[in-house]
Amino acid sequence: MRVALLDGAKTVGAKILVSGGGRCNVTHEVLSHTDYFGNRRIIKHVLAAFSVEQTVKWFASLGVALKRQETGKLFPVTDKARTVLTALVDRCHDLGVVVCPDHRVTDITPSTGSEGGFVIHHIHGVLRAKTVILATGGRSIPKSGSDGFGYELARRLGHQVTATVPALVPLVLDEQMFHKTLSGLSQEVELTTRVSGKEVDRRTGSLLWTHFGVSGPVVMDASRFWSLGHEQGKTVEVYGNLLPGQTQEQAKVWLMEQATENPRRSLLKTWAQQIPERCAEALCSYVGCDPKTAIAQLPRKDRDRLLAALTKLNFPVSRDRGWNYAEVTAGGVPLEEVNFRTMESKLVPDLYLIGEILDCDGRIGGFNFQWAWTTGFLAGQAATASVCGDEGSLR
Ligand SMILES: Cc1cc2nc3c(=O)[nH]c(=O)nc-3n(C[C@H](O)[C@H](O)[C@H](O)COP(=O)(O)OP(=O)(O)OC[C@H]3O[C@@H](n4cnc5c(N)ncnc54)[C@H](O)[C@@H]3O)c2cc1C
Repeated sequence: MRVALLDGAKTVGAKILVSGGGRCNVTHEVLSHTDYFGNRRIIKHVLAAFSVEQTVKWFASLGVALKRQETGKLFPVTDKARTVLTALVDRCHDLGVVVCPDHRVTDITPSTGSEGGFVIHHIHGVLRAKTVILATGGRSIPKSGSDGFGYELARRLGHQVTATVPALVPLVLDEQMFHKTLSGLSQEVELTTRVSGKEVDRRTGSLLWTHFGVSGPVVMDASRFWSLGHEQGKTVEVYGNLLPGQTQEQAKVWLMEQATENPRRSLLKTWAQQIPERCAEALCSYVGCDPKTAIAQLPRKDRDRLLAALTKLNFPVSRDRGWNYAEVTAGGVPLEEVNFRTMESKLVPDLYLIGEILDCDGRIGGFNFQWAWTTGFLAGQAATASVCGDEGSLR
């Protein structure tokens, strides 16, 4: 069997190199289908086929030892994404895979002859193949080579592609918001997203204020809901509770206790016990309260406005930051169109689809790579068995 890897980019694996801040978050210690969005029934079946344990062993067999971070994320012990990429490319060479960078595929057509297979048109000519594994990724960071053309290839072969939107992407806020003054500051926030008035997501985590708006894991994870709702022309609201776990009423009780115990303490110093002082200051100005006011003298109206802002702060999102900043794509080829045991297309025999081209996106933490490894493993096994018979499988 001969295997060729055609990649449009001049160097393969660009995304591996930029991933995880250059360290490549290979996978996550604990993994569940609920860490992903898409058809979770199918995702669950797929994930079961190649566990995190198998992934760790597989990387060890390639000479890449992984280490666990406190958060459960797994990284190469070298802390270098390059280690992961080099190991994968070396393995391709060991197995005799012909790696062809700078070979952008422009079309794939099923052969008309009785032998079946495909004709793959690329910028330097054509290649005939018995099976094709389409691993063209999504649309995030188009300059890496994944510019969405893979969806067009899939469409031409008869597949549907659901709306694709940026996910794991920072959100840009309206200029009127106070984000610029807090640029660089991180804090815990409970973020709620409502689409057409209905809550679709609620999660707690670290939010990073930036010069353009908000970022950080909690925002990145929630962003897909904003992008999808917006794409569908729906009203999307994003709220933050800056006192995660507390209701407005509980916050009020706490504030009143503080007013009894330390009546002369300023609003700023009081709230600085619960949220970063810079944020307390920005929030006071935003709702029109003087941060220096002694809490016992705070007018009730001001108090209620501030409490409402603390527990249900409206983030006026003007847009997501777009494909150049998105880590992944939400949407893609529907999972229902592939056989989840093999990742073979249900529409085109001997065509396999893996990774981000499929309608499945994971949250931050190594979940998207795990999806790529697992679907790649399944397709690799099945395609090999189909070409060589079972004894040829890649165990
Ligand atoms: C900045 C950033 C950081 C990330 N960090 C992490 C992380 O730490 N952990 C994690 O789990 N996930 C991370 N991700 C997500 C992860 O990188 C992707 O989910 C994963 O790379 C998807 O793998 P894939 O093989 O499906 O697609 P890709 O990695 O995008 O690879 C697709 C390949 O197909 C090639 N291609 C596309 N079209 C054609 C064509 N027409 N002809 C030939 N070749 C073509 C491209 O050149 C590319 O090499 C990150 C993503 C980004 C952008």
